Amino acid sequence: MLADNIFLKIVQKQIPARIVYEDEHCMAFHDVNPQAPIHVLLIPRKVIPTHADVTEADRDLMGHLHVVAVRLAETLGLGDGYRLVVNCKDRGGQTVPHLHFHLMGGRDMGWPPG
Ligand code: AMP
Repeated sequence: MLADNIFLKIVQKQIPARIVYEDEHCMAFHDVNPQAPIHVLLIPRKVIPTHADVTEADRDLMGHLHVVAVRLAETLGLGDGYRLVVNCKDRGGQTVPHLHFHLMGGRDMGWPPG
């Protein structure tokens, strides 16, 4: 399953993506099916299938992802607010088995989400 992960293929540059940020630990790229005027996916290079698979060993990585998300929001002009979403497993609406944050903004967000 992990070898088929489409986000891993993006990390490995086997398939293209509209990359907006990358460093040694993570990458961010535009979602192909955006649900908001700005919809970027932020992923670790490390394969962590779901949020439920995060462990103590990922503490620094998870902190880094949040710091990068804040910087990205600034860079992408989301100073007036944004939504950061993690879908986890089937009932959480997750479709790609590689942990990712959805960074969305550019419109008013409704609550509760669907
Ligand atoms: P989730 O449903 O939380 O697992 O989110 C997966 C997201 O990945 C969806 O919003 C898709 O539109 C997006 N997606 C799937 N394939 C690609 C791709 N090749 N490049 C960019 N985004 C993708």
